[in-house]
Amino acid sequence: MRFDRLRLSGFKSFVEPTELLIRDGLTGVVGPNGCGKSNLLEALRWVMGESSPKSMRGGGMDDVIFAGTARRPARDFADVTLTIDNRSRRAAAQFNADDVLEVSRRIEREMGSAYRINGREARAKAVQLLFADAATGAHSPALVSQGRVAAIIAAKPVERRALLEEAAGISGLHVRRREAEIR
Ligand code: ATP
Ligand code: MG
Repeated sequence: MRFDRLRLSGFKSFVEPTELLIRDGLTGVVGPNGCGKSNLLEALRWVMGESSPKSMRGGGMDDVIFAGTARRPARDFADVTLTIDNRSRRAAAQFNADDVLEVSRRIEREMGSAYRINGREARAKAVQLLFADAATGAHSPALVSQGRVAAIIAAKPVERRALLEEAAGISGLHVRRREAEIR
């Protein structure tokens, strides 16, 4: 599964519509302190289904919406869209007809958030499952936030095993098994 593009609008410090193209190879994001580098990663995690405001460095879900500055009024919504190249068919089988997957999430102040996959409304669970099979997802060990490196080094063996399973792409199977057991 290849990420092609991330589009943000009204998300944290990205008040104006912003597009980040993710090309082959390594993409570096550089800039002074506080310019929004970590916010970009949080946008990625958020559109993939992150549901904990704490791991988004906020107190409530609405904290991802641009809060305004001395010169700019706050926004009432935030929008993030992730474009995925699915030509390798790495996404779940139900998406095998699609070369391109566009996953978007939009939140409105005090109204909660909603997801779309290729324009169609989707449940949070569907979005989380889309990424669960691909060793990606909001809780992927591939996304290491600032300050988390030391915690991974100090993790207990069981916790580290969970990280490795997820990195190896087999934790999606656990998610699916749990889903199946619930039904
Ligand atoms: P560093 O190099 O220090 O890690 P960074 O580039 O990772 O910095 P971020 O942490 O991504 O920076 O961005 C922090 C900025 O985002 C702060 O200026 C903060 O005020 C702003 N910010 C966070 N949430 C919001 C919000 N809801 N509305 C407006 N601005 C926000
Ligand atoms: Mg940072």
